[in-house]
Amino acid sequence: MENHDGVKGMLRTQQLIRNENLHCASNYHPLPVVLTRGQDVWLWDVEGRRYLDMMSAYSAVSFGHSHPELVAVLCEQAQRLAVTSRAFHNDLLGPFLGLLCEMTGMDRALPMNTGAEAVETALKAARKWGYQAKGIPEGQARIIVCKGNFAGRTTTIVGFSSEPQYRAGFGPFAPGFDVVPFGDADALELAITPDTAAFLVEPVQGEAGIVVPPPGYLARCREICSRHNVLLICDEVQTGLGRTGRLLACEHESVVPDALVLGKALGGGLLPVSAFLARAGVMDVFQPGDHGSTFGGNPLACAVGHAALQLLRRESLAQRAATTGARLLQGLRSIAHPAIRDLRGKGLLIGLELDPHFISAHAFCLRLMEHGILSKDTHGTVVRFAPPLTISAGQVDDALATIKAVFAELPAPQQQRPLAA
Ligand SMILES: *Cc1c(COP(=O)(O)O)cnc(C)c1O
Repeated sequence: MENHDGVKGMLRTQQLIRNENLHCASNYHPLPVVLTRGQDVWLWDVEGRRYLDMMSAYSAVSFGHSHPELVAVLCEQAQRLAVTSRAFHNDLLGPFLGLLCEMTGMDRALPMNTGAEAVETALKAARKWGYQAKGIPEGQARIIVCKGNFAGRTTTIVGFSSEPQYRAGFGPFAPGFDVVPFGDADALELAITPDTAAFLVEPVQGEAGIVVPPPGYLARCREICSRHNVLLICDEVQTGLGRTGRLLACEHESVVPDALVLGKALGGGLLPVSAFLARAGVMDVFQPGDHGSTFGGNPLACAVGHAALQLLRRESLAQRAATTGARLLQGLRSIAHPAIRDLRGKGLLIGLELDPHFISAHAFCLRLMEHGILSKDTHGTVVRFAPPLTISAGQVDDALATIKAVFAELPAPQQQRPLAA
């Protein structure tokens, strides 16, 4: 009976995957699991198997799945008023952005939906500030970005990516970007010209493989940008809102950027909500008609975003991420398996780099899945560990035991093939 159900479940999984593949663009390579339900740190597949979510939808689900308080706000607001466009005012935009500015220390915010849109907003603000405030000749503004950056998938953004696959086949690209190595403040200073309007940087690079820069890097970038009248714009779409153990990752170095990009977790794991935030002198370049979004700042998004921020503050989720993240990192460090090439991270944003002679990160994630942990590799060799910030110490310990078991089962590294005679 159990076996029969197991076979039936497997067939259902395969059928759903086949159906998805038939109609959905194949722009992702998902793990072969079909999810149907989520609650806090847990996910269930259509076969009834339970998994610990160590991906959190690339940090969008920092509050855990279907947080009851956020779901209640979502349902109540959906019944009351959801979408109005910004042709009119709504009674939630002010309170939401007021709290967001208070918590982040920024003067003003511009609400958008996805991270990429908020980054695009940052690029537009930086260029216009460059012309109006800095006096860069029209059409000449340049923006410095880092090698390994990830800021979304629009054509302008992939145009300054250093990842060949993100660009291949999608040109021509917008000009005006310069790429410098990440973690090298001297390289930033050398790249600055009188036409440089801004430096856009992730305090910890997420999609590049959880890359943590050397200590002092961001603080030096701040000093360099101030000295050259260049805007420091931190893309904290992934690192922000508690993920790295502080509300903002730039707080680790007491850095106050000129502008900030937030997204992902801002929607409470329920909706796409993003924002571009800046000091007044930067944001005020926008005049009515300069920029907009049909859905940006809609009442439903504002209600959920506001509740998410309150929850983050009330539950001290950033501090919790610092504590449980340190526990997870220390536990992973104690594994000391020869397949581990590097281990790095801040708070609950941790990357485990594997030696591909042992196993690819994708194959490792498949093994984790078989043991009830869901994660995804970045760049072939790095396994991401980024569970919801609500994860408990006990759940971290259980996850560590599972990860240890997966390492213990790894076959010996592939031998080098003997040379042909
Ligand atoms: C995910 C991400 C984005 C893009 O967000 P989308 O909502 O996918 O458009 C931008 N910047 C960083 C650092 C990200 O991790």
